[in-house]
Amino acid sequence: MSVESAQNTTAPVATGRRRVVIVGSGFGGISAAKALADANVEITLISKTDTFLFVPMLYQVATGMIAEQEIAPTIGEVLGGQDNVRIVQAEVTDIDVDGKAVIATADEQESRYPYDEVIFAAGAGQSYFGNDHFAEFAPGMKTVEDALYLRSLIFDSFDRAEAAAAAGRMEDARKALTFVVVGAGPTGLELVGQLAEICHRTLVDSYQHIDTTQARILLVEGLGQVMPPFSEKLGRSAQRQLEELGVEVRLNSMATDVDAESITLTVKGQEPERIEADTKIWAAGVQAAGIGKIVADKAGAEADRAGRITVQDDLTLPGHPEIFFVGDMVAKVPGVAQNAMQTGTHAGETIARRTVGLDSTEPYEYHDKGSFAIIARGKGVGYIGADKKFELTRTPAWLMWLGIHLFYLPGLRNRAVALKSWVADATGAGSSKELEQVRDADAPDMRQVERGQA
Ligand SMILES: Cc1cc2nc3c(=O)[nH]c(=O)nc-3n(C[C@H](O)[C@H](O)[C@H](O)COP(=O)(O)OP(=O)(O)OC[C@H]3O[C@@H](n4cnc5c(N)ncnc54)[C@H](O)[C@@H]3O)c2cc1C
Repeated sequence: MSVESAQNTTAPVATGRRRVVIVGSGFGGISAAKALADANVEITLISKTDTFLFVPMLYQVATGMIAEQEIAPTIGEVLGGQDNVRIVQAEVTDIDVDGKAVIATADEQESRYPYDEVIFAAGAGQSYFGNDHFAEFAPGMKTVEDALYLRSLIFDSFDRAEAAAAAGRMEDARKALTFVVVGAGPTGLELVGQLAEICHRTLVDSYQHIDTTQARILLVEGLGQVMPPFSEKLGRSAQRQLEELGVEVRLNSMATDVDAESITLTVKGQEPERIEADTKIWAAGVQAAGIGKIVADKAGAEADRAGRITVQDDLTLPGHPEIFFVGDMVAKVPGVAQNAMQTGTHAGETIARRTVGLDSTEPYEYHDKGSFAIIARGKGVGYIGADKKFELTRTPAWLMWLGIHLFYLPGLRNRAVALKSWVADATGAGSSKELEQVRDADAPDMRQVERGQA
């Protein structure tokens, strides 16, 4: 396996083997590469980063529980020396459908990567539903850079509140201690749950002039329940668990304006409410990576409003059996990690079959094994199995979430670190001092960091 950056790269040396280009090193791209491990193919995996990001644990980076490298092993580590892959760190910006090549850019230089088959696994970014100007004041959380930026916003707020309270500016202190998260899906739940833990446990003795337990944490959802994809019963349980932590849950509420000082919430038929808050976080809505729409336009395929591509049953584009889409870029399948892994594996296995002359186009079928969302220590909700009949809440759901994520997190060392942080969290051994170490370690100047967008 070799790792390159695009500017020095020309077309792969012709070996007579089938050339497969994979775009993206997330759950979908990595699963596709693994499914091709024993196939007689030459894989070029092109990704914007040289790591595999375990996105479901990103909230722990944003809230200072663990350092970012613990959930972002290198692609090489994750593929464990697979020898038919070369890794290129670059951004795929275009496709030559007739010439069968993708165009990628790194350090402002373009390179062409010819393929016999290409798998697009570039995932999704944040959607502000047409209000892109909200992004400046209510950042989202999709990449490591996003999580580090949020971490700095969150902890700067406590420091600002302390300084304001010390100077007797109590209104400013209250504003700095108000956190609003928009979107009550898994990301929103994780964030408000962990924020509540930080305020009520981790930081309680850290400041002289503020009482962090008085922080106001709001979770805003446009629909009528928390965790909309789950049953109403699980939604109600999640809401109760959040309220026990002191989180204010606002259902049927739309964020209709956001600025540096505040967020405005609107419930149909009521007067808009302006809430003064320094920290607003956007955890609602996804928009598939922009390269999807570019490919769809050039290949005559359809993209929905969220930029997700309509594929055929075997995940290829109509009239283009050589172009696959997987994971969060695909329309009409759930945007979850297990779907990304299953679609990636399906695309990889389809290509592997072609290499031995089996040109079968087996339809993709999603197998829902269950889904869990974590809220805080001993709190969570979820279900097992596609029929969603076996539901779990609180400690059993929390333990299931930990078990599943420990199983899927790549690398023994990363698992050990994650386990240590959860044990510390569960036993109350996680101190503000440890948190300080994480938040101060390698803390870049966040205003200089380019945050990820799809
Ligand atoms: C905060 C958060 C929490 C979540 N929690 C859960 C959870 O608990 N359980 C669950 O099942 N799902 C969860 N999800 C959803 C899950 O993470 C996604 O469904 C999954 O990551 C999708 O995998 P993917 O391979 O399609 O895309 P991603 O994992 O997003 O990977 C996309 C890859 O493409 C690369 N890329 C993007 N554009 C380009 C380009 N133009 N050129 C080259 N490379 C490119 C990126 O760098 C990245 O490597 C969560 C998502 C978020 C954001």
